[in-house]
Amino acid sequence: MIELRTPDEIERMRPAGAFVARVLEATRAAARPGVDLLEIDALAHRMIREAGAESCYVDYHPSFGASPFGKVICTSVNDAALHGLPHRYRLRDGDLLSLDFAASVDGWVADSAVSFVVGEQASPEDLRLIETCEVALDAGIAALRPGAKLGDVSAAIGQVARGAGYGVNLQFGGHGVGRTMHGDPHVPNDGRAGRGWPVRPGLVVAIEPWLMRGTDEIVTDADGWTLRSVDGSRAAHVEHTVAVTEDGPLVLTARG
Ligand code: MG
Repeated sequence: MIELRTPDEIERMRPAGAFVARVLEATRAAARPGVDLLEIDALAHRMIREAGAESCYVDYHPSFGASPFGKVICTSVNDAALHGLPHRYRLRDGDLLSLDFAASVDGWVADSAVSFVVGEQASPEDLRLIETCEVALDAGIAALRPGAKLGDVSAAIGQVARGAGYGVNLQFGGHGVGRTMHGDPHVPNDGRAGRGWPVRPGLVVAIEPWLMRGTDEIVTDADGWTLRSVDGSRAAHVEHTVAVTEDGPLVLTARG
């Protein structure tokens, strides 16, 4: 069931969005060569405690997860696309890192992700992959306005991805966000314009394009969580939580 939020409820979701943005800024700044993924998780955990927020991940245990996630942030490195379980690994110059973070503040959730290259030695192919995800996210957000259909959002994302020559995986995509992290509707990263649920004011969704350089297929790592590209090619993932207002889309997790 799709739940629509009142303008007042959307106002009350802003602190969660701002907090998630702040954690992604801080963890991104901390992700330098030589830093361990567990230190990044510890930093996010500390910020959650200090803010009196609640992690959406630590007890998360869906049907596809081997056990509760146990950490508070997803750290997906290089060929890891989604759900990267933080582990003892020191980041290297040139690693492509995706950070995905969701938390609840005063009972409202926000969910966001960012991808970037650690250190100085970014390959042009990685930068193009990340940029394509960002352009796809912007296109999806721009399509999320009253009067549109959710298929318009999916089509906008898919068009950017396919136009840049990447395949699109439809197993994981955007989702409703509210009191919990995952709700209706599902927002696939490709689809047909003019189809699907009508976009109305009060709809709050996470839009999250993710792409891999060489494939659209994933495999689950032995850790039971991390999803990797089947061919070992690098992956990127970006995400924002967006509320639909009478005036258009409002990005709740916008970073400064
Ligand atoms: Mg997320």
